[in-house]
Amino acid sequence: MKKSYLKLNSPVQYIKGIGPRRSTYFKKISIETVNDLLFLVPRRYVDYSAMRQISDLKINDEATVIGKIKAVDVQRTKHRGQIVKVLLADEFDTIAVKWFNRRDLKNRFKTGDSLLVSGKVTFFHGRQIVNPIYEIITEQEVDKTQGTVIPIYPLTEGLGLWDIKRAVRICADECLDDVQETLPESLLRKNDLMALPQAIRNLHFPGNLQDAFAARRRLVYDEFFFFELILAKRRSMAKHETGISLPDQGVLTHRLLDVLPFELTKGQVEVIKNITDDMVKPRPMNRLLQGDVGAGKTVVALYAMLVSVENGYQSALMAPTEILAEQHFVGLSETLKELKIEAVLLTSSIKADARKQVIGKIAGGDAQIVFGTHALIEEEIKFNKLGLVVVDEQHRFGVMQRAALVNKGINPDFLVLSATPIPRTIALTLYGDLDISFLRDKPPRRGEVLTKIIKENKKQDIYSFVKNELAKGHQAFVICPLIEKSEKLDLKSVDEVYHEIASIFCDYSIGVIHGRLKSTERIEIMNDFRAGQLDILIATTVVEVGVDIPNATIMLIEHPERFGLAQLHQLRGRIGRGTQRSYCFLFLNRYLAPETYERIAYFEKNNDGFALAQKDIELRGPGEILGKKQHGLPDLKIGDLEDDKELLFLARDDAFGTITKDPEMKSSEFFAIKKQLRKLTPKEKLLSIG
Ligand code: ADP
Ligand code: MG
Repeated sequence: MKKSYLKLNSPVQYIKGIGPRRSTYFKKISIETVNDLLFLVPRRYVDYSAMRQISDLKINDEATVIGKIKAVDVQRTKHRGQIVKVLLADEFDTIAVKWFNRRDLKNRFKTGDSLLVSGKVTFFHGRQIVNPIYEIITEQEVDKTQGTVIPIYPLTEGLGLWDIKRAVRICADECLDDVQETLPESLLRKNDLMALPQAIRNLHFPGNLQDAFAARRRLVYDEFFFFELILAKRRSMAKHETGISLPDQGVLTHRLLDVLPFELTKGQVEVIKNITDDMVKPRPMNRLLQGDVGAGKTVVALYAMLVSVENGYQSALMAPTEILAEQHFVGLSETLKELKIEAVLLTSSIKADARKQVIGKIAGGDAQIVFGTHALIEEEIKFNKLGLVVVDEQHRFGVMQRAALVNKGINPDFLVLSATPIPRTIALTLYGDLDISFLRDKPPRRGEVLTKIIKENKKQDIYSFVKNELAKGHQAFVICPLIEKSEKLDLKSVDEVYHEIASIFCDYSIGVIHGRLKSTERIEIMNDFRAGQLDILIATTVVEVGVDIPNATIMLIEHPERFGLAQLHQLRGRIGRGTQRSYCFLFLNRYLAPETYERIAYFEKNNDGFALAQKDIELRGPGEILGKKQHGLPDLKIGDLEDDKELLFLARDDAFGTITKDPEMKSSEFFAIKKQLRKLTPKEKLLSIG
């Protein structure tokens, strides 16, 4: 066998032609070793044989063309946006290519450069391609592309397509033989997957597009499979742990039902049953309760907390913001007083003396129910006997934080509440190790929410309408995306909105709340608003989650295009919580690109949180919802939760099937899998045997 100067784990700087300086460019796209480079999945492929002549392009074609840049021009739109416009020419014809609000591109294109663009052909004073994917290609590269499928890699400053291609070629020549299969034959066969070394080859040097896609499919499957395997392992281990058996004795819980001013909905009864069935088992509960905004999850959590308390254990509820923690504490305090339960609130803004007292009560066990923010997970906080941990609006926390709170007890039960409706793809990844309950109905007699897009010239009518509502004693939220004026973004700031609103609503009292205020100030303002001392509250997204003020019936949203659909739905969930009809007005202050307008219009017509979250993922990718939290799981680098979801479901079944059949993966066919698993989670003990 040929002896290679490179190994899979060699740093990229040792690849011929790279060296220490250039290797820093590779680092920027997270490529550190030969192995990383071999597993670098191209963003996409361009099939040169399918390349089109500009003269052949028709309206509505999805097309890829290469041409020379004849002119670069930057134009301002009427509404202070920018358009970078390139005139692209090939042998016989020209076409306009435009990017909206991408001023970063302006210096990237030079007249005379060859440019590859791929996108949809539309019509506007002639044919054009708007916001296409693009690559700048040098003259010699154009030649090399003849008759091949070109992988397009993620590029970065200082690294061209051909630098990466060359380095990949060297690595493949030197090390491809060292790449070892990780999956057992049986899974490969069952799912019709390419062997790993073959997949790597086809990924970078495909003979045709089918080979390239089959290679990518194999790698995406791997990514999902190992991700799900970690979850399956976690879940199987949790199922074998000893926990506390907490039966619903009906002492406090039934008294709760007596003092509540309403009947539980059918859905609430159902999920409470899921939860109490879990709690009575001598295993720790790990359950996610999902229910749309305003579905009434709090009272379900309260019921569970009372089960723990009536068994002599403490319950903790952690909320993502002080506003929410305080709201739960204040909102439930009457009820808890009636039940003679001692509850405390712990946030980081509670002053030293009070804090000491609260911490003492938690440690001593006097505090039966503890409300708080992540202040609860600090080292210093010790519980006497923690039976149940509830985490509200979990998507704001990472798995590490939830584990930190759970670890303050000895395998307590754990309940997560989430109002961000999570599509199945995300439920299977981010929450894949939890059991899930859905709260499907909503409390009856809710005031409906009417949503309407309002153009600039109709604003005054809306203001008069709002005055009418305020005159009836109702309250209004005004939401804006920015606290301060930004140089870069042409958006209204809180200040500007305040001046506008104050000049129109001069007879009303107006509050302003945003993330720069001290949390004590924020809580004070929220309390004033809740008490009705403020008529209008101008706010950033600090009020996004959970805030429950039934008397607020109006929400005006400035620049709704700045928010994701799921986020808009959360915001809108702040109104329509009482019995009155509520109104959500979306103010459009400027021209929006058609796709953007469509998104807002979809929101206007749709009130179903699940549909909106699904749409959000289709439009913006799952990142927005998943966020960049530490979930202790490897990042998904290749797979796309939306586009590749069939593969995700497949990998999920295989991973869970593997663990069910052979929890310790003792069979020799899993040897390579175990090795890989240990590499992916070096800090987590998922395997009890070596
Ligand atoms: P979310 O699920 O968004 O956290 P909340 O728990 O804050 O919703 O409940 C929203 C509102 O609905 C609260 O004012 C709560 O008191 C009320 N509510 C909850 N359950 C019922 C019910 N079964 N009948 C009537 N109102 C209810
Ligand atoms: Mg809530």
